[in-house]
Amino acid sequence: MRNSVIRKFLVLSLIFSFIGGCSRLDPAQLRRASQTKVLMGTYVSVDVCYERGKAAALSDAYDEVWARLKEVEGGMSIYDPQSEISQLNRSYPDAVPVGHDLYYVLESSTRLSELTRGAFDITVSPLVHLWRDSAQEKRIPTKAQIALAKDGVGMPYIELLEDQRARLLKSGMSLDLGGIAKGYAVDEAARVLRSKGFQDFFIDAGGDLYVGGRSCKGTPWRIGVRNPAQRDQIIDVVEVRNQAVTTSGNYEQYFEIDGQSYSHIIDPRTGVPQKGIVSATVIAPITSEADALATALCVLAEQEGIELI
Ligand code: ADP
Ligand code: MG
Repeated sequence: MRNSVIRKFLVLSLIFSFIGGCSRLDPAQLRRASQTKVLMGTYVSVDVCYERGKAAALSDAYDEVWARLKEVEGGMSIYDPQSEISQLNRSYPDAVPVGHDLYYVLESSTRLSELTRGAFDITVSPLVHLWRDSAQEKRIPTKAQIALAKDGVGMPYIELLEDQRARLLKSGMSLDLGGIAKGYAVDEAARVLRSKGFQDFFIDAGGDLYVGGRSCKGTPWRIGVRNPAQRDQIIDVVEVRNQAVTTSGNYEQYFEIDGQSYSHIIDPRTGVPQKGIVSATVIAPITSEADALATALCVLAEQEGIELI
């Protein structure tokens, strides 16, 4: 995977960090703290390098990081009927005010949809539900059902108004931020840590990572990508600094119908789960963008994806 971001065979799964250090501070003085919580349906872990005298500041920073992550989750979770996104999903045909976080993610999603020629599309939700429900009933959706669900799919059906309001333009449509919200949350955690004076850290939200600065031993953070075909093997190691590393794929989360597995990533153009690309890993400066791009790269044909990158 050194030169290519897409693998047709099974890539990834868990991502490991290996230690490093910090150029500005004396690595010998640096300690590594680590906290993990379950948020956004996954394990989120935050590792921070800190000096001995900064333990109290670090404790405050952790509190703020977890509070901020909860706030982002609270706004963007489609599983919480009270979340802002759920309220927006019920708001057709009215224009409703949305908070800064949601507005930013809706704007980014629009841009990323254009960039990926429609492969990334947060209006895909009716199709996700159709395939999920069908899998539960152990049947493949009919063409008519797919066509019906697809009717409300399309980014132009989201209208963003300048006074930070949003409007859904089709009845039956709904938005699913599963392909970008985790990345946004990671960016926000990184921003909080930096605002508290911590530059060297490692954030992992279930495979969506961001690494700040260097590791606690003064070397670049090293991220190993596990080969899920042989889970005891690492398929590649990347060394990064102030970058996001995100992975999407069809082997960890999928629906099963008649013994066949179907990706949880849907091709919005056809209404059918993507196949072909087993995993895509993206390295980029902004985690929300890397998150969305990794999802899109699973939808696009291999050549098209590589050209996009
Ligand atoms: P993970 O949640 O495993 O990190 P992704 O970032 O690839 O995976 O996001 C996949 C989720 O995004 C799906 O579970 C679904 O909620 C949503 N989704 C599915 N297909 C698309 C798509 N084409 N564009 C945007 N979001 C999608
Ligand atoms: Mg994604």
